[in-house]
Amino acid sequence: MRIGLYSANSVKEFQLAIGSGQYLLNATLSDGSNQSVLLNTLAQARFKINGAVIQFYQAGTYRFQASQFELIQMAHEDFCNWSVPALSTKTRAYEGDFELRIYKGNLQLINVLPLETYLEGVVACEGGPGHQKAYYQAQAIISRTYALSNLQRHQKEGYQLCERVHCQSYLHKRTGSALIDSSVYQTRSIVLLGPNGDYFPTYFHANCGGQTCEPQDVWNEQITGLQSFKDTFCIHTKQATWVKRIPLQTWIDFLTTQYDFPLTDSLSYALLQEFRQPERSAFYLHPVYGIPLRDLREEFKLKSSFFDAVVVGEELVLSGKGFGHGVGLCQEGAMQMAKKGYSYDQILRYYYPGARLVLPKE
Ligand SMILES: [Zn+2]
Ligand SMILES: [Zn+2]
Repeated sequence: MRIGLYSANSVKEFQLAIGSGQYLLNATLSDGSNQSVLLNTLAQARFKINGAVIQFYQAGTYRFQASQFELIQMAHEDFCNWSVPALSTKTRAYEGDFELRIYKGNLQLINVLPLETYLEGVVACEGGPGHQKAYYQAQAIISRTYALSNLQRHQKEGYQLCERVHCQSYLHKRTGSALIDSSVYQTRSIVLLGPNGDYFPTYFHANCGGQTCEPQDVWNEQITGLQSFKDTFCIHTKQATWVKRIPLQTWIDFLTTQYDFPLTDSLSYALLQEFRQPERSAFYLHPVYGIPLRDLREEFKLKSSFFDAVVVGEELVLSGKGFGHGVGLCQEGAMQMAKKGYSYDQILRYYYPGARLVLPKE
C-alpha cells in the first residue's frame, strides 16, 4: 500500500526520529547518482525543501541535498516518528518504508507498507481502545474492503489512499493492542462482495442517530445494497445526540443568499420557527422548500443532518442525532452489538444485508 501522510498540509520541513531499529536512507542526487546513510535511533534527521531539492540535516548539521529520498525499514516492526515543526500536531509514528519527494512545491511523504500492517493502524485509529473483538474484526473487514476498492483514489498524487477520515483515519501505526492486531490477523484477506462480485461499498460512520441515511441523500447516488433503516443499537451511546445554537440571522442569511428563501413572506417565516425530523429527511422545510439538509450540515459544520431546529429568541437551536454522513455501518451501533455478544458476521449482515463475506482460499 502507498499511503499519503500529512496530505492536507503544505509541508516545507519534516523532522524524523527513528522510533526503533534502523532505517537505510537512500538519496537520489540531482546528477542521478545515489548516496546512502544508515540511520539509528540517535539520528536526529531533518528534511527541508529548497527550490527543487530537499536538504538533509543530521543532528543540526547540513549533510547533502537530493531530489528525493527513500527510507527502508531494516527489520519488521521498526518505525519512524515524524513531525512538522510548523504544525502543532503531535509526532506521528508509522511502520514500514517511506518516500519523500517534492510535489507541487511542497514535501510529500508516502508510507509504503503491507495492507495488513496498514489495517492494524486503521482499526486502532477508527475504533479506539476498549471494544470487543467482534467489533474490531468487523472493522478490519470493512476497512480492508474499503481500502481495496479505493486504490485509485489518489492516483494523480502518486499514492493510493491518504491518512484522513475520507480515506479512513490512519494517524498512527498500530498501538500494540493484541486484541486489535489479532482481529486483523484472524480476518486476514476476508472482504465483503456485492451481488455482482465487486467489492461491496463498505461506507461507515461514527453514529447514525437511530436511522441510517440513504446514499442518494448524501451523494446523489443510489448504491445497491445500502438503504436507510432503523438502527436500535446506537441510540443510547455517547455520540447519539448533540445540540448546537446558531445566530438566527446567520441561518437566515444563508437561506436567503443560497436558496432565495422568501423572508418577507410571513408564511415562510412562520415555517422557520419549528422544523421537526422524526425520521430522516433529505430536505429542510420539506415539502414547501427543498433545501438539502446535507448542504446545511456542510455549511454549519453540523455533526449530522438528522436534527430538529427551533427558534428560541435570536437563536436557532438545533437538536441533532448521530455523527457522520449516516450511510452504511454505524460504528457505535456495531460496538454495542459486539458488547451484546453478536459475532462479526452477524454485525456485518445487520448493516450490509446486501453483501456477502468472502473467505480467502487458503
Ligand atoms: Zn484521501
Ligand atoms: Zn446507529
